Amino acid sequence: MDLTQYFGSNTFNDTVMRERLPLAVYKALKKTIENGEELDSEIADTVANAMKQWALERGATHFTHWFQPMTGVTAEKHDSFLAVGEKGRVLMEFSGKELIKGEPDASSFPSGGLRGTFEARGYTVWDCTSPAFLREDASGVTLCIPTAFCSYTGEALDKKTPLLRSMEAIDKQATRLLHLFGKKDVKHVEVCVGAEQEYFLIDREKYLKRDDLIFTGRTLFGAKPPKGQEMDDHYFGTIKERVSLFMHELNEELWKLGIHAKTQHNEAAPAQHELAPIFSTVNIETDHNQLVMECMKKIAARHGLACLLHEKPFAGVNGSGKHNNWSLVTDQGENLMKPGKKPHENMQFLLFLAAVIKATDEHAQLIRMSASCPGNDQRLGGAEAPPSIVSIFIGEQLEDILAQLIKSGKATSSIEREKLTFGVSYIPYIKKDANDRNRTSPFAFTGNKFELRMVGSSMSIADANTVLNSIVADTLAEFATELEKAKDFDSAVVSLICKTINEHKRVIFDGNGYSKEWLEEAARRGLPNKESYVDAIECLTYTDTINMFERQGVLSKAELEARAEISYELYSKTINIEARTMIEMASRKFIPAAVKHAKLIADTINAVTAALDETEADNTREMLGECLELLGDARRALKRLNDNVNTAARITDEQEKAHYFRDYVVRAMRDLREPIDSLELLVDADLWPVPTYGEMIFEV
Ligand code: ADP
Ligand code: MG
Repeated sequence: MDLTQYFGSNTFNDTVMRERLPLAVYKALKKTIENGEELDSEIADTVANAMKQWALERGATHFTHWFQPMTGVTAEKHDSFLAVGEKGRVLMEFSGKELIKGEPDASSFPSGGLRGTFEARGYTVWDCTSPAFLREDASGVTLCIPTAFCSYTGEALDKKTPLLRSMEAIDKQATRLLHLFGKKDVKHVEVCVGAEQEYFLIDREKYLKRDDLIFTGRTLFGAKPPKGQEMDDHYFGTIKERVSLFMHELNEELWKLGIHAKTQHNEAAPAQHELAPIFSTVNIETDHNQLVMECMKKIAARHGLACLLHEKPFAGVNGSGKHNNWSLVTDQGENLMKPGKKPHENMQFLLFLAAVIKATDEHAQLIRMSASCPGNDQRLGGAEAPPSIVSIFIGEQLEDILAQLIKSGKATSSIEREKLTFGVSYIPYIKKDANDRNRTSPFAFTGNKFELRMVGSSMSIADANTVLNSIVADTLAEFATELEKAKDFDSAVVSLICKTINEHKRVIFDGNGYSKEWLEEAARRGLPNKESYVDAIECLTYTDTINMFERQGVLSKAELEARAEISYELYSKTINIEARTMIEMASRKFIPAAVKHAKLIADTINAVTAALDETEADNTREMLGECLELLGDARRALKRLNDNVNTAARITDEQEKAHYFRDYVVRAMRDLREPIDSLELLVDADLWPVPTYGEMIFEV
């Protein structure tokens, strides 16, 4: 199959629009897409008709407004194109109104108090900047229309709306600043993002035997296998046959959806893999990443596999994240995050760099929050993922340039890229990158973009990018206001860069982010360290946060308060499900298995005593004692966990409840896991009721 032929064949993309829309309509729609101009209803009707025709030709029977409520996953409500015409004739209909506006029952989605169940009205509204697409699955073909979702009163109830608003904010402020640099031909600045996605693949049959994986996405029990990832033999290792077949089909499906899945490789942990797409505009990339996750799950099932997107499916081996690569690109094609050949002379780049540094320092907690979810608590701050302290890595070359600027008001050189030779005559030398990578930094400059490495693998990237766009927009606005007043622009830029770096250099760190020393050093520097997701939530309603988001027109106070409420709720619900799953698995699976095992030993003791001298059974008695002791520990822990879950259920304040879950329920969960994991290593393997870690991660 010719890739160029079928790439994007399931999307209503620019080529299709140009082919199928009358020129005037096409031009009007393009204006809306590119410049955000309002769309007229007649045009919408024509577009809807063309879209319907295109979808029907490809076998579609239904259409759906596809949206991203604050659950973090996507939602949709399917309608068929069917309509009944005169004399009962069947028609296929799809009007401009249906394309533009939908009305799902908003009360079934989290709103954080923005809307009571009695005020159910909510709207989904077409986001024409993200192409509509066809989804093919067992139920047939469906036309999916990316939409934003808001309440009757206009408050955002989803993750897309604030993201779109933040894109407009940064577009406006970055363009404003570029005009000051004399780049008057720049009309727009876009945010480009590439989201690298990590995931696990395990055998589906084994997955289906584990309630914890089914209900919570991660294992809540499981003793460490004899071999973990210590041999480092999985990273970039040869891809196994079944996994290759999965990847092949995944690529094809994604390509049809116009998603540029580019590289794929095995990751550090056994059974862990990564997919990297080619970057696109942030709202499209956000939609695409949701589709990537959805396709991964669907296609894994077709291959007898289960795809785990949880941040930490297995304790003791690396978890999964999502690297959010972020840059700003003008409509003239200039990447504002590119330092160029002589970074020390590129004041425009250094000013944007300073803006990112200042924004990161001032809103570090917000970045932390936007990249956090209950699952990511298992991962951030461990020695495998960025710490929960937000710092920024810019590399030696840029640090040196900034130091020169601060010292003497000008920078005269950039540290050169070195040659790297292999010591073999016919292997060509390569030029090293200007900086090595720092894999331990939560937010790292990687040559022409910033990579936020904290985001959880199961999360939508919308929140993280909404935050990055908004805080940088706010800083750029401040810079532009100051520079607009300057008499001598060039020297004002230099002083602004120096002042900014001096004030915010505490957030720059190029050492080992996983180390204990950094924790101490960060505390000395006064950098916030919100150790858990629950601690991070409160920053959503800090006065600084509210002011910043309101200034940029991204989120209102009421919307932020709602988001905080939903986050607390999400945390409590997640832990509650985990705790109840543990209770059920321990009571109905593990404890009975251990009891059976104890009975086996007891029978053996009786048999040995009957056949031989009583003392000959001493060894076996010891084994029984050990088993019974662990059983006792497990039963006590189980009772405590049950009690704590019941206490939590009685707390009504969401914030208080979330804290209780973290402080008491999570601890009780840990206490239950311990004896059960010890029992796993003791009980007859034939009696153990679920697949073990070794069976799950090595036998794919
Ligand atoms: P690296 O070698 O730095 O990891 P890759 O080329 O592998 O870079 O890219 C990693 C991810 O970053 C990919 O998803 C890629 O599309 C994305 N990316 C590359 N350049 C940019 C950019 N300018 N802006 C946003 N994302 C980018
Ligand atoms: Mg990366």
